[in-house]
Amino acid sequence: MVGWIVPPPRPSTKTAEDFLRERRAKVRELQASGMLRSPRLAAAMEKVPREAFIPEPYRDYAYQEVPLPLPGEATISCPHSYPLFYEALKLDAGHRFLEVGSGSGYGAALAWEVVGPQGLVVTVEIDPETLTFARENLQRLGYREVVVVHGDGSRGYPPLAPYDRICFTAAAPRVPPPLLAQMTLGGRIIGPVGEPGQIQDLVLITRRGPAEWEQQVLEQVAYIPLRGQCGYPRSSLPV
Ligand code: SAH
Repeated sequence: MVGWIVPPPRPSTKTAEDFLRERRAKVRELQASGMLRSPRLAAAMEKVPREAFIPEPYRDYAYQEVPLPLPGEATISCPHSYPLFYEALKLDAGHRFLEVGSGSGYGAALAWEVVGPQGLVVTVEIDPETLTFARENLQRLGYREVVVVHGDGSRGYPPLAPYDRICFTAAAPRVPPPLLAQMTLGGRIIGPVGEPGQIQDLVLITRRGPAEWEQQVLEQVAYIPLRGQCGYPRSSLPV
């Protein structure tokens, strides 16, 4: 088993100014490390208040490199995982973007800032409690045009397909075939592939032709399991 140590819950004591300072420092740190390169993504990370997507007992840890618990069985991924995914995807203005696993809604808000008003963000969440949390966060922060869907995202979301960019934020046994089918030509998809409770491969696939996909493994990661038709059945999950 691999896992993360969750910091202890405690009442939030930080002010909006504290969070702003931490957010700016995080963006500079990610840029200095070479992980964050896109000016659009940097501007998005400076703008979106990550702390507003985190339940109060964990809010003060918003800018630490640790995943934090959310309502349901979800976690918000650590800050650097968003540039890790979105830089590899080359997410940009005008893209049609699908996120599988809304979690807090933070990833969808960042993506919305990057794709802009000419683009599209669809985020699918399977857990009703987590879905409500994501939807309320996005509404409260003004991301009303993000399409939030309750359902099994391992099957994609055919009504708004095709997508230029797709990410799944939970570990799958293999890249879900319906997602590959819902990509545009030249489209890219990223997500963790491997066993729950183990280190997984972060896989990036580019669609080169109607039936031609090119796969790269970028690095090793640890994510909670993808459920649904192309995920892991509940009974197989570690407790
Ligand atoms: N991107 C999120 C992180 C989410 S954690 C964020 O920024 O906060 C992974 C999420 O995937 C969890 O919320 C989990 O409930 C969800 N999930 C797991 N299997 C799913 C499926 N088949 N369809 C949609 N969501 C799924």
